[in-house]
Parts: sequence; C-alpha cells; structure tokens
Amino acid sequence: MRNGIRIGRLFGVDIIMDYSWLLIFALITWSLAQRYLAVHRDWSVELRWGLAILTSLLFFASVLAHELAHSLVSISQGIPVPRITLFIFGGASQISEEPRRAIDEFWMALVGPLTSLALAAVFGALWFVTQQASPVISEVSSWLAGINLTLAIFNLLPGFPLDGGRVLRAIAWGITKNLRRATQIAVGGGVLVSWLMIGIGLWQVLGGDWADGLWIAFIGWFLQSAAVQEGQVTVVHDILKGHQVREVLESDCPRVLKQLSLDVFVESIAIPSSKRCFVVIEGDKFLGLVTMHRLNEVPRSKWETTRVADVMIPPEKLVTARIDEDLTEVLEKMGQADINQMPVLEEGRLLGMVTRANILAFLRAHANRQGLGTKPG
Ligand SMILES: [Zn+2]
Repeated sequence: MRNGIRIGRLFGVDIIMDYSWLLIFALITWSLAQRYLAVHRDWSVELRWGLAILTSLLFFASVLAHELAHSLVSISQGIPVPRITLFIFGGASQISEEPRRAIDEFWMALVGPLTSLALAAVFGALWFVTQQASPVISEVSSWLAGINLTLAIFNLLPGFPLDGGRVLRAIAWGITKNLRRATQIAVGGGVLVSWLMIGIGLWQVLGGDWADGLWIAFIGWFLQSAAVQEGQVTVVHDILKGHQVREVLESDCPRVLKQLSLDVFVESIAIPSSKRCFVVIEGDKFLGLVTMHRLNEVPRSKWETTRVADVMIPPEKLVTARIDEDLTEVLEKMGQADINQMPVLEEGRLLGMVTRANILAFLRAHANRQGLGTKPG
C-alpha cells in the first residue's frame, strides 16, 4: 500500500490507515490532554493522557464504523468493496462500481451519517447517565457524542463527494432518471458547499480565529477539487458506458519474431515504427509482448546476444482484454495495474491492442460531439 498501513481485514474489506491519520491521531490526543481535559485540574497527567489516547482510539473506531456501514450496504447490493482508507478528513470506502439504482445509492450513502448519528446518541446517553456517577466516563462520552454529531452533520451537507451529495444525487437521479444530470446537480451542490466553507473560514480568519478559520477554508478547498474531479470521472464513465473494446481496437501493432536479436529488432522495427509496444507471434499464436520499458532494462552491450523471446512478457503475466469488454472496465483495469496498453485476445489469438491513448482520443471525440468539452481526468 503506497500511502498507508494495512491494519486488518473486516467482512472481507481491507482496512488501510493513511499516514495522515497518525498526524490527526497525535493532534486530537494532544488537544484532548492539554486543552479539553485540562480543565480538570485535580486529574493527574497520566489520567489525562491515558483518557486522551483512549478517546482518540474510540474516535478512530467511530470513523471506521461509519465507513463499514457504507461498505456493508454496498456489499449487500452485490458491489464489492476492496478497501476502506482512513485519512486526514475521515474515511473513504473504495467502492468498486457505481450503484446500479438510485434507491441503492440513496441507502448506501445515507447509512454512514445514520451510523454516526446513532453513535452520537449512544455516547450522549452514556454522558447523561454517568454525569454524577463518573465524571471521567461522562467527559469522554460527551466529546465523542459531539464529534460523531459533527461527523454526521458535515457528511450530510448536500454536495458531492460528501454523503449528503450522494443522497442528493440519488434523489435527483430518481426524479430525472438521468444519472449525468443528477451528477451535475450534486457536483454543483459540492462546489456551492465548498465555496461557503471557504467563505466562512476566511470570515473567521478576519475575525482573528486563525486556526479554525484556516482549517475550515482548507477543507472547503479540498472539497472543491474533489467535487470537480468526481464530476469528471462520472462524465467519463457515462460517455464510455456501453462502448466496447472493438471500437478503439488498434490492429496495426508491429509484429516481431521471437528469435530476432534485440539489436536487429531495434534498428529494423522499433525505431522506424515509432511505436512503444510490439507483439511477438508465431504463426497465429500470440507469444507475448515487448515494451520499450522492457527493452531499456537490457544493457546495450547485450542486445546482440539477447533475443526477443528473452525479454517478452508472456500472456500469463499480462493483463488482457476481451473484444466485447466495456471500455469503463478496461480503463479501470489499466488504472489498477498501472499500465497503458492491453493485448486483446480471443482463444489465445491476438486481435490487437487497446491503449489508453486510443480510449482518450475516443473520449475527446465523443465529448466534443456532445458539447461537453470535458477534459478526461
Ligand atoms: Zn460517509
């Protein structure tokens, strides 16, 4: 995992803690121990710090419960969730597909804030009954009730990509029956919410409350770019939906023989063709792929004695596509494997290549035709 630590697996979902969470954990623990709990001058330093750490852990568990609620509803709708990442602004469930129906999205989005609301109620009740009996438990409960309530309210703000924005989109989708129109409405809501937050934040900064003001403005700025980006991703998906690999198939890839030495291959095929990717065939059979990347791994002095067969990537190590596969799926696969092209196979026979560049060109042509003018992100 690039930016985090895998801390476990729950209900088949990997739980990843982003490094930024360590910072939040430290900040919350510090402010609890030194500020919030510091009003109790009779409590020992050990007690305050112990409680602060415990409270931070319970906050972490609260955010996790919120995300797990999204994930479990998504899984129950037949959409797998490979991982949940907890990061600086809370959490994100990586849902592998867009919900299929408006009602599915509605519940999937709403269940997170509902969980936070339920947690706020539980901690609130705990605060209420322990007020007299145990000030220690009641202080911690009161803070956790407040933070869960804040989490619920913040996430219900009606702008993409917040949960409330998804709820808004689901409602608009249900009414208009048009996912793209609904997404535009929810993205518009997100931009509006983010500008409001930036405005409120700057207002607070002008009023002298630097720390809170900057924090709110920063979250607003983050939301703004996330809303625009999510909107673009959805538009891209919507344009590509229903279009198959056959529409962008590149069938004129240079073909090479496996016994060719690399120096001959480079001089007579690679350089004149100015392509970056070559297929190795024997008769009708697809044997593998040679990429410029693979070629560059071999020192020049060894090109004479190395054959194409030695550097090619065999089919079993390649991510491949089918001719009737959806372009959205292909793009997702390329993203996951971090590659720019995939061979298209049919019963071991190579039909051609599908490349990221071709999909983007297709996207641009279609976006222009529809007058969208979106840049694929
Ligand atoms: Zn949520």
